[in-house]
Amino acid sequence: MACDRPEITERLTAHGLRATPARCRILGLLLETHEHYTPEEMLEALRTRGEPMSIATLYQNLAKLSEAGVIGRFVGPDGVSRYDAVTDPHHHLVCEVCGRMVDVRAAGPLAEVVPQAVFPEDAGELARWQVKGHKVEFVGVCPACQARLRARSA
Ligand SMILES: [Zn+2]
Ligand SMILES: [Zn+2]
Repeated sequence: MACDRPEITERLTAHGLRATPARCRILGLLLETHEHYTPEEMLEALRTRGEPMSIATLYQNLAKLSEAGVIGRFVGPDGVSRYDAVTDPHHHLVCEVCGRMVDVRAAGPLAEVVPQAVFPEDAGELARWQVKGHKVEFVGVCPACQARLRARSA
């Protein structure tokens, strides 16, 4: 079995997964939209694209895809699980008005940033942690929301 787009089939098989229609559709949606969907949002987006899927099939495949490392899973600022086509370390720029989320890399000396204890009594334990990376959340207002806000105040 193969997806319409060969690079999607490749990405699945490189992670040891068969290219089933559901997996092709989920990965295709994430790669094309760059969105960070919750399962419910993904269900709606797939339906809108004319690629409807049952919620059971979606959940089953989201679990398989994220376990295999084909897609990323993270908890968004609203505390809800979201899925991401980008599995390399990256950060998110989040619109504080509408929640739109853009994949970004941090430019600048962020790589040299180290965690420092807020409470002095934690410093000893902090020194013994194995720090594996960091996630920075950039917060802002997206262009569409800026335009909406400007129109409202005019
Ligand atoms: Zn916005
Ligand atoms: Zn992302």
